[in-house]
Amino acid sequence: MLGTISYINSLFLTQTKMKPDLFEAPDYYNLDELLTEEHKLVRDAAREWVKRDVSPIIEEYAQKAEFPKQIVKGLADIGAFGPYIPVEYGGAGLDQIGYGLIMQEIERGDSGVRSTASVQSSLVMYPIWKYGNEAQRQKYLPKLASGEWIGSFGLTEPDHGSNPSGMTTNFKDMGDHYLLNGAKMWISNSPFCNIAVVWAKNEEGRIHGLIVERGMEGFTTPETHNKWSLRASATGELIFDNVKVPKENLLPNKSGLGAPLGCLDSARFGIAWGAIGAAMDCYDTALRYSKERMQFGKPIGQFQLQQKKLAEMITEITKAQLLAWRLGVMRENGTATSAQISMAKRNNVDMALTIARDARQMLGGMGISGEYSIMRHMMNLESVVTYEGTHDIHLLITGLDVTGLNAFK
Ligand SMILES: Cc1cc2nc3c(=O)[nH]c(=O)nc-3n(C[C@H](O)[C@H](O)[C@H](O)COP(=O)(O)OP(=O)(O)OC[C@H]3O[C@@H](n4cnc5c(N)ncnc54)[C@H](O)[C@@H]3O)c2cc1C
Repeated sequence: MLGTISYINSLFLTQTKMKPDLFEAPDYYNLDELLTEEHKLVRDAAREWVKRDVSPIIEEYAQKAEFPKQIVKGLADIGAFGPYIPVEYGGAGLDQIGYGLIMQEIERGDSGVRSTASVQSSLVMYPIWKYGNEAQRQKYLPKLASGEWIGSFGLTEPDHGSNPSGMTTNFKDMGDHYLLNGAKMWISNSPFCNIAVVWAKNEEGRIHGLIVERGMEGFTTPETHNKWSLRASATGELIFDNVKVPKENLLPNKSGLGAPLGCLDSARFGIAWGAIGAAMDCYDTALRYSKERMQFGKPIGQFQLQQKKLAEMITEITKAQLLAWRLGVMRENGTATSAQISMAKRNNVDMALTIARDARQMLGGMGISGEYSIMRHMMNLESVVTYEGTHDIHLLITGLDVTGLNAFK
């Protein structure tokens, strides 16, 4: 019996084994010339790590619908947890383009792994750094930067997704502590997070951030199963049933909806870069396949219809790279607006999804197989196009920005 099980396991692993990672990054407009030596070093280290530690195992974990916890230390080592958080708090102290490049390389491997890094950096470390006090920074940031602790970010609720201002999760001042009640859903990292940055309304209806720690009585994190997307990332709920939160766990330096939206700006910027990584991987795979796969006596890359797909892919990747790079410069000098970030998130994720769908077709039947990364990227991107503001919501943000007329009201 044991022999049969191990035979089935080995068959499963063989069947889900990916092709070796032969990735070569496209750089059609010599964008490397826009990068500093530090950018290239950071990018190349992340790229090598993904090839060595993510690519060989990620298909198996996506098939099992499990987050590969063994890569947490590697993520910390390449600076993926708090890339732009100052070194004194354990962060990598990089600039915004360095942050973007790390997200690009990780998502080249898998959007679910990038999601874990994005949540940790932009949705957990960022608010503690920006809205927290010094004691909170000292207590949480070094442990999050090293990966000793994993964080989650609770904004979305069962009845409030695109409209988080309607949230009903709330806390009451009980004198020596706060009493937190409510529920959050679709929360990345929730099933194994050590802490959660939770957005809740006080008795006056004002939104505040609270740090909730695993082990607090009444705090549970059930996992959400049966996802067809981001399968290598754990998603779940955060449930608060009369949780006593110490008063020192309230983030004191910013409140109102602008506080979580500030975190989302940072995460959306990272996604705009990350999506380029997924697109590059799909393009690179389809390009290589098109030169090797023979039909009608020719490589399929010689057919005009396939060349059209590849030519459009590299054009769109190049445009997205320029958008992300320029946005990085503006983020760094503090001039990027939320609407400009929305445009890049929306454009680049849509670009990646279109490329993933076309690349999948170019591989024919092999396109649906776990031997190649494309179908996994395609399914992952269906979440990426939805979370951190849906495709349509970002369009409305651009619409509001250019017309001054608010379609949300
Ligand atoms: C895998 C995954 C991980 C996630 N991780 C996190 C996380 O870590 N933390 C967190 O807080 N959240 C997380 N989310 C939640 C995510 O941000 C929400 O799913 C997203 O904001 C959309 O909310 P919703 O699902 O409730 O959709 P809804 O808001 O119900 O939207 C449904 C549809 O209606 C459209 N719509 C809504 N309002 C309008 C309007 N005014 N005009 C036109 N169309 C509109 C939307 O575009 C969408 O197409 C995650 C989601 C997924 C899928």
